[in-house]
Amino acid sequence: MSDRKPSPFKTLFDAEVATLIQAADDVYQIRFKNRAANAYLVRGSKRTIMIDVGLSTNYPSLLACLGHLGVTPEMIDMVVLSHEHLDHIGAAYHFHGSAYIAAHRLAANKIMLRDDFSMLRKMFNEPNVPIDIDIWLEEGNLIDLGNFRLNVMYTPGHTSACITLFDQDKGLLFAADTLMPGGVMGGVFGSGSIADYIQSLERLKGLNSKILLSGHGRLSDTPQDDVRIALQRSHALLEDTAQLFDALDARSNFEPIMQSVRDLNKLDD
Ligand SMILES: [Zn+2]
Ligand SMILES: [Zn+2]
Repeated sequence: MSDRKPSPFKTLFDAEVATLIQAADDVYQIRFKNRAANAYLVRGSKRTIMIDVGLSTNYPSLLACLGHLGVTPEMIDMVVLSHEHLDHIGAAYHFHGSAYIAAHRLAANKIMLRDDFSMLRKMFNEPNVPIDIDIWLEEGNLIDLGNFRLNVMYTPGHTSACITLFDQDKGLLFAADTLMPGGVMGGVFGSGSIADYIQSLERLKGLNSKILLSGHGRLSDTPQDDVRIALQRSHALLEDTAQLFDALDARSNFEPIMQSVRDLNKLDD
């Protein structure tokens, strides 16, 4: 749209493959110029955390952006991973031993079991370096940074393991791949579900959010509009999916899956 107002968010620094943008006081987006997801730094009065960290190969640019703010990796207390996809979490192993690594328990389980299919390792061509999760999160947990209080919301759909962090007082919504600016859909992957996605978006719609800090794309100061569009699109996607299944010959398409289940059962004979 040509009449879109200029971005209220200020670019502070440009590194090789990343840009540092201020989202709010003590809240920064590190936006990578390649396929990596956005990383966020939240500098609280008691603790400093990151939410997602991007691909492992982008780590030098991540450090350069943090360095511009006078932040070293040792100053990060916790790295919260939004879900298991490696474009969000590839660099997390760099923080082993210095910061706690946290993720929803379903993401933590996939990551700890090295479930490469769920983590999309081939798609992102990431090295096979283990990432260890120290803290397994659940809906209703609260991460208290002093002047920020981040509520952990379980928002499945994109995968089974997605979380959203919400600071109610400040209206900050860290929604990763569940809600994106302009209502762009994050897609439904392996363990995900479009119906779960819709339910998660309905929950986000009810929040008094002011700034949307997503896993991909720009920052948004219109999260209410974004969630409304995303809900329309997800309902359309649900209808498309229904038509797709109607069009398929269900029996022949599910036969290989059923056969593999039968083969597994045979092992017990
Ligand atoms: Zn994802
Ligand atoms: Zn993503």
